[in-house]
Amino acid sequence: MTRVTGSEEPLAGGAPAGRHAVVVGGGLAGATAALALADAGVRVTLLEGRPRLGGLAFSFQRGDLTVDNGQHVYLRCCTAYRWLLDRIEGAALAPLQNRLDVPVIDAGRPEGRRLGRLRRDPLPVPLHLGRSLAAYPHLSLAERANVGRAALALKGLDPADPALDDQDFGSWLAAHGQSPRAVEALWDLVGVATLNAVAGDASLALAAMVFKTGLLSDPGAADIGWAHVPLGELHDRLTRKALDSAGVRTEVRTRVTSVSPRGDGSWSVEVPGETLHADAVVLAVPQREAHDLLPAGALDDPGRLLGIGTAPILNLHVVYDRTVLTSPFFAALGSPLQWVFDRTRASGLREGQYLAISQSVAQNDIDEPVAVLRERYLPELERLLPRARGAVVRDFFVTRERAATFAPAPGVGRLRPGARTKAPGLYLAGAWTATGWPATMEGAVRSGVGAADAALSTLGRPRPRHLFAGNGTAGRGTPAPAVREGLR
Ligand SMILES: Cc1cc2nc3c(=O)[nH]c(=O)nc-3n(C[C@H](O)[C@H](O)[C@H](O)COP(=O)(O)OP(=O)(O)OC[C@H]3O[C@@H](n4cnc5c(N)ncnc54)[C@H](O)[C@@H]3O)c2cc1C
Repeated sequence: MTRVTGSEEPLAGGAPAGRHAVVVGGGLAGATAALALADAGVRVTLLEGRPRLGGLAFSFQRGDLTVDNGQHVYLRCCTAYRWLLDRIEGAALAPLQNRLDVPVIDAGRPEGRRLGRLRRDPLPVPLHLGRSLAAYPHLSLAERANVGRAALALKGLDPADPALDDQDFGSWLAAHGQSPRAVEALWDLVGVATLNAVAGDASLALAAMVFKTGLLSDPGAADIGWAHVPLGELHDRLTRKALDSAGVRTEVRTRVTSVSPRGDGSWSVEVPGETLHADAVVLAVPQREAHDLLPAGALDDPGRLLGIGTAPILNLHVVYDRTVLTSPFFAALGSPLQWVFDRTRASGLREGQYLAISQSVAQNDIDEPVAVLRERYLPELERLLPRARGAVVRDFFVTRERAATFAPAPGVGRLRPGARTKAPGLYLAGAWTATGWPATMEGAVRSGVGAADAALSTLGRPRPRHLFAGNGTAGRGTPAPAVREGLR
């Protein structure tokens, strides 16, 4: 039986002292909502079913190695996630590149591997990418010119236009003169990693959101950041510390089994062995769990939540006896490998090198046995990294996330609910809710802020001044104009 400790809740009758909110789910969305509510003076209990916080972005031990379940990156334009990093005092542990620089190795050429780079210059948009695009060796001259034209057309799209959500990005790219090679070597290179879908399977609205915000808003918007420590250090340890300091009561290994209205405007939240009473409840769990926990009448058509599909991401982990990669990461073309990251220092490995390979859109590989994946991918690493050819593989293992993201398919926008339900006091959060963003850490944090805002207005509490303000008005000062533009 799970004991929810330290509860001041009366189990039956009696008014709780002050306002009490229960947040269900300790991923980034739930942790954000809990922090925001606590910062506004609400008494908060955060309930997480697993033994740790962090949800889909976590770490575990494998012998001496600390492993992330999946490589995560964010961009400078992810202002809400950056706000959270600041709030938990973790920003220095997940720094951003000074300037976007992505090595792209093409292993598919008959004459051998070729290195290109996607980087930016300190120039205004869209000139910041002009020089890099003009020199990008993986596209022909005509393809490069066409990319520029499509980018300008993309800039004119409004990602919030519902008509865009019904179209697929691949058809739009084809209609705008993009060759299959341009889609592979540029649009999908970025889109697969950010959307977890190839262009033909992605909503044009979500793709336009990603490319406009990341590449066509502020010159620095696409600078890449990633954790230089295990993800668990940020999303579990530091988050837990911030929650504790804010006075949040956090219970892990505590799975909520039902959420129901009590009839007096308050809520009952059941965990095995105990009932909590709350004035507001934020459900920050995946869409299927939210569907199962929502009381009748909370949404007009709760079945829609089940229409939001999921998409897998596979990570391959390879420990070599020596250094085989000298840059922090690269992206691959002409190979089934996608993005390769050096995780040696973050993992605590003392000798050799540890590479994490992030494979999005992993439907074909996600259920393959480790031996098959090893046979398929180790030779690819040798093709891309000449130094890997003579190196000894000390360890090879995989992490599989079958529901890593919601599927960003055309039409998904209509299925994603906002933070408010029809039941006063009950709110939804999660990267899958209607944030306008694809399934990202940024979307999760934004959804947590949105749910907290909605709850605060019902609870009659003022919004904390330092809380991320969304839509480009981040609480820590005036946003870059381009970020404002990108989020329109
Ligand atoms: C391998 C991988 C790679 C990724 N790469 C990136 C990336 O590079 N950049 C990026 O921005 N995003 C990336 N993502 C996506 C990102 O991790 C997610 O969008 C984000 O973490 C989702 O957060 P969330 O809080 O919305 O949901 P979740 O993380 O799913 O959190 C929900 C929580 O609710 C808990 N829960 C469920 N039911 C109950 C219950 N009944 N009671 C109590 N608790 C419950 C779950 O245990 C979970 O902890 C990646 C995801 C994966 C898996």
